[in-house]
Amino acid sequence: MTNRNGRTRRERANADNLKAQRKQPCARCGQRIDYTLPATDPQAFIAGHIKAWIDHPEHRDDPSNLQPEHAKCGKSAGADSGQSNVGLTSRQW
Ligand SMILES: [Zn+2]
Repeated sequence: MTNRNGRTRRERANADNLKAQRKQPCARCGQRIDYTLPATDPQAFIAGHIKAWIDHPEHRDDPSNLQPEHAKCGKSAGADSGQSNVGLTSRQW
């Protein structure tokens, strides 16, 4: 098992595959995603889980459970992919 914020190899591969497809737009806000941005940018792409894997662990490695999102949109939706090491924020958006 991985820890709560770790990603499995399969999950990582699924995210990379989704990114390679350059899908548009962000599934949460409907705005374009700039795939050239660095991963540290809040507007950068992340592979978000349609069903949060915390609640649906059986779908964590399911490619069909992924959708393109901005990093900031995925974060505002709650704990999910754990791509950031910034840590939890106390602010609710
Ligand atoms: Zn967005």
